[in-house]
Amino acid sequence: MECKEFTGLIQDFLNDRLEETKLSEFLDHIDECENCADELRIQYLIYEGLERLETGATFDVDKDLAEWMDEQRRKLRYRNGIKKAAIAAEIMTTAAFLIVLGIVMFYQ
Ligand SMILES: [Zn+2]
Repeated sequence: MECKEFTGLIQDFLNDRLEETKLSEFLDHIDECENCADELRIQYLIYEGLERLETGATFDVDKDLAEWMDEQRRKLRYRNGIKKAAIAAEIMTTAAFLIVLGIVMFYQ
């Protein structure tokens, strides 16, 4: 992902509106690009900071942002896990079907 695309997606990221593929690329880019990580931090500060000011809640940018990113990473892993489980289940169903078919053919 390019830096330009990254900065354009920050708002969507903070609003939890990125679809899986984009979210994955987005999170990868943070790890490899310091400038964008900084940019995200600033936008998060503004985005969350304003909201917290209204509610009067305390705010620790680095900690809260790290938690938000962890949550997004977990969500991504969870979705990938479901996908793999679904594929595995399909393979097992097919295998079971073939075995049953094999047994039926054998005894005919
Ligand atoms: Zn970048």
